[in-house]
Amino acid sequence: RVVSAAPASPNEEAIERALRPKLLHEYVGQPKIREQLEIFIGAARKRSEAMDHVLLFGPPGLGKTTLSHIIAHELGVNMRQTSGPVLEKPKDLAALLTNLEKNDVLFIDEIHRLSPVVEEILYPALEDYQIDIMIGEGPAARSIKLDLQPFTLVGATTRAGMLTNPLRDRFGIVARLEFYSTEELAHIVRRSAKLLNAPMDEEGGFEIARRSRGTPRIANRLLRRVRDYADVKGTGHISQDIAHKALAMLDVDPQGFDVMDRKLLEAVVHRFDGGPVGLDNIAASIGEERDTIEDVIEPYLIQQGFLQRTPRGRIATAAAYRHLGVVPPKNAGE
Ligand code: ADP
Repeated sequence: RVVSAAPASPNEEAIERALRPKLLHEYVGQPKIREQLEIFIGAARKRSEAMDHVLLFGPPGLGKTTLSHIIAHELGVNMRQTSGPVLEKPKDLAALLTNLEKNDVLFIDEIHRLSPVVEEILYPALEDYQIDIMIGEGPAARSIKLDLQPFTLVGATTRAGMLTNPLRDRFGIVARLEFYSTEELAHIVRRSAKLLNAPMDEEGGFEIARRSRGTPRIANRLLRRVRDYADVKGTGHISQDIAHKALAMLDVDPQGFDVMDRKLLEAVVHRFDGGPVGLDNIAASIGEERDTIEDVIEPYLIQQGFLQRTPRGRIATAAAYRHLGVVPPKNAGE
């Protein structure tokens, strides 16, 4: 994929870091989450206590990692970062937990991918700031309890439904991130353009915002690609015309759908008669992994009303037919 919401190469990651807002008031959109966090952060600071554990869920690129950094920054503590698949053994997590300082933030990305044995030692850590670790091996092995500093776990996942119940129950704050509106994305693009010293007018910014799949990571990526185009094919100034041409070259259509979005819609409409069709059949048909379809591609198509999720499978709506230039059948849903 030319532009996906997946995390980037090291070089792109450095740019992403540079564009990341550091304070809550710089974080655009997600008003409900911001309001909640403002109160919880303020209360924790006032009492000099660790804040409650936070679970953030939603598609990639919507700002979960960014929020975790902001929480730590606003609390005035350090953030340690890891991810579910990286923590292979209980001792990997134990090492991280025992190194936390008072009220620190521990960020675990893809927390739904923690192995059961690792998850097991997380429970008492979250509840009582304690862990049980095994010392020695064989008959001489014994378990000892270690006290931890109070800390805040920020867990991130693409789907809250993939967490085990006991883990989900241990989060005091559970927040779902929503796709961003065009206005919010335009705000983010303007801010990023300023940080990148890229001259851009209002309409150029909106053109990028409209075509970013509701996702800040994609908005920032498209901005950088459009800037390259403007530097080479124009005077460097990002106007609506330049943005439009650059995005057409990148195969991002006016609706903001990319190649994979269109592939999926075409498969459902043309190969499966508009559905209902199961996820596995779609995956086989377009050569994409089931998880990627469920986590990355379809949430936006569903939110935009092009696809419906039903118990019998996915269905293309009338809007999907029209988008592909096909007359919708009479029974197609809106
Ligand atoms: P996630 O962890 O959900 O995959 P990130 O937190 O890594 O997403 O966000 C991706 C990029 O998008 C970040 O580099 C950041 O610059 C930008 N971003 C995300 N959310 C916002 C926001 N609310 N305001 C401004 N920029 C944002």
